[in-house]
Amino acid sequence: MPKLAVLGQPVAHSRSPAMQTAALRELGLAGEWSYEAIEVSADGFEGLVRGMEAEGFAGANVTVPHKLAALAVADSASAGAEAVGAANTLSLAGGRIEADNTDTTGIVAAMPEPPAGKRALVLGAGGSARAAIWALREGGAEVSLWNRTPARADELAERFGAMVMTPSGPGGTLPLEEFDVLVNTTTVGLNGTAQPGTDLKALRLDVDAITEGHLVMDLVYGAAQTELLAAAQARGATIVDGLEVLVHQGAASLRIWTGAEPPVEVMRAAART
Ligand code: NAP
Repeated sequence: MPKLAVLGQPVAHSRSPAMQTAALRELGLAGEWSYEAIEVSADGFEGLVRGMEAEGFAGANVTVPHKLAALAVADSASAGAEAVGAANTLSLAGGRIEADNTDTTGIVAAMPEPPAGKRALVLGAGGSARAAIWALREGGAEVSLWNRTPARADELAERFGAMVMTPSGPGGTLPLEEFDVLVNTTTVGLNGTAQPGTDLKALRLDVDAITEGHLVMDLVYGAAQTELLAAAQARGATIVDGLEVLVHQGAASLRIWTGAEPPVEVMRAAART
């Protein structure tokens, strides 16, 4: 009976076990496959992964803080994982470890329309920004980015062929009118907003510049809607939240492990319960 897991620290809050278990049940694979959460420290990660196949595991999702280590431990990696420099999906078979990055595919699959020809602005320059920038570029979008620490934005722009945006004007905000798609990959919004307006200010956004024509995606997910998504929704923009991205990255991982077509609707319902 092949086992699957999500590896992270912390990992107890993860929606992946509920979502993947519901999917396995829907596919009629629940008697055969299982999915659990395993908390593991950075020190223990490589040893754990190397011992997993012998313990009956066929694969794993990898989350914070192990995505770089997941690529490093692999014998081979997909083009996306190589390009991004991180992996969130491992497949274990025949003594080999294969790495994938389904954050990339998840971001694009969560979009209501393909990114080809769109002008996208990515906020942030961390691990998920790399996935977003690479995936949007691969999907044919023109990508710009902004980051609180400019040097990190410069580094990513050079690596991925994106443009760096600098806030301007009296309020020091980003020129949203130049973009069709806005993707927040920063951690801003993760802990809720202490004071209304704080998150938008931290992200250098003028809320009045958000229009119905914008697609606004926020990778952050938590108990409440982020201030960014609430503001975008109030202005008629199309919004995509972090749980939707989580569902699609999980669906892509499940497809890699089982070869089955993931029941996205069931996964969405389980992730949101
Ligand atoms: P990360 O590598 O730690 O990067 C964090 C980013 O946030 C950096 O660009 C950092 O800017 C920026 N930042 C932090 N505090 C800020 C502030 N007060 N103002 C402006 N910028 C700030 O994190 P990550 O792994 O990319 O993850 C980012 C978020 O995406 C997390 O909330 C994570 O849970 C979420 N995520 C969701 C999914 C999903 O499936 N929905 C997948 C992956 C990640 P500096 O460079 O200036 O520090």
